[in-house]
Amino acid sequence: MMNVPFVDFSQQHKIVKEEVDRGLKEVFEKGSFILGPQVKSFEENFAKYCESKYGIGVNSGTDALYLALGALHVGPGDEVILPSFTFIATALCVSYTGAKPVFVDVEDETYNMDSKKLEAAITKKTKVIMPVHLYGQAGNIEEICAIAKKHGITVVEDAAQAHGARYQGKRIGSLGKVSCFSFYPTKGLGGFGDGGMIVTSDDDVNTLARMLRDYGRTGRYDHKIKGFNSRLDTVQAVVLDAKLKYLDEWNAMRNKMGVYYCELLKNVDGVIAPKMKEGRTHTFQTFAVRILKNRDQVVDKLKEKGVSALIHYPIPIHLQEAYKDAGYKRGDLPVSERISDEILSLPMFPHITKEQVEYVCESLKEVVKKI
Ligand SMILES: *Cc1c(COP(=O)(O)O)cnc(C)c1O
Repeated sequence: MMNVPFVDFSQQHKIVKEEVDRGLKEVFEKGSFILGPQVKSFEENFAKYCESKYGIGVNSGTDALYLALGALHVGPGDEVILPSFTFIATALCVSYTGAKPVFVDVEDETYNMDSKKLEAAITKKTKVIMPVHLYGQAGNIEEICAIAKKHGITVVEDAAQAHGARYQGKRIGSLGKVSCFSFYPTKGLGGFGDGGMIVTSDDDVNTLARMLRDYGRTGRYDHKIKGFNSRLDTVQAVVLDAKLKYLDEWNAMRNKMGVYYCELLKNVDGVIAPKMKEGRTHTFQTFAVRILKNRDQVVDKLKEKGVSALIHYPIPIHLQEAYKDAGYKRGDLPVSERISDEILSLPMFPHITKEQVEYVCESLKEVVKKI
């Protein structure tokens, strides 16, 4: 039996260890723990990587989304359209502002927001459309932006899972008015703790978001607005800047193994492999398949074979207890609901080996056949 962990970043850490050690030593010696020069450097490097103008480092991906909405003056009385099949933070940040989250269903092929169902959800109150580039593959962003433009609505991308992905050659992070990233350790670019970034080319959003993350400050003790304390740690910036240099290479490794997975699972009864859409690079931050029967039992049986699998996400947000008050019921978003019952994430990380992928696929085939 082979043990295949869900993620294993030990190889990554070996590669960046020297640079990180050196950078951290400097932080400790100079004591620049909050908004040190390394934060500024990483903000510039990451914004440039995203083919965008500004990067504003914050505490987490959740805060990136929340402060981005704040910088766009989203508040009570407004509506924000988002998918229900995503991590709950996408909706939480809308709720924090007092705006109403309005859920639309996702595409059966990519699990991203279904742009064909988008217009029906737009009202006079819609202020922002927030697509999520789920698992590392860009959503139908061109069409979503075109619909938004037609109605005078702003697009905020939840790019927390899609660092480095491209849509028609353009980098995710440059397509909406604002894009939000998470650097949670298991994300495509992950730190040694929490972190996030708002990326934009808009001068006003940049100015306001920068104030919002730092007590609404314009000078040391001059506060123009009621801001928050949500800054990216200098220590995280050091780690992330070191890893950023390898991101394209690591994404290519993930993509290669993702394609190999798809090949091995192509004709397996009861398993649907992910679809890679034309013109979009899939970074496979998460490699998720669909199991058409008894998914939960498959997870347990895989574990017995040493394969660690997880479910992203078992309950769509509109059916979560926390969103009872939103007034949705089962049947409202049928595609999201069906996918939640079938989806299963298999081990994936840049340095996963061919042998590990082969073992996971062999194990999955055996388990699915017996169940
Ligand atoms: C991880 C994630 C977030 C939240 O990021 P944190 O850094 O964990 O706060 C938001 N949206 C999506 C789609 C995510 O995957």
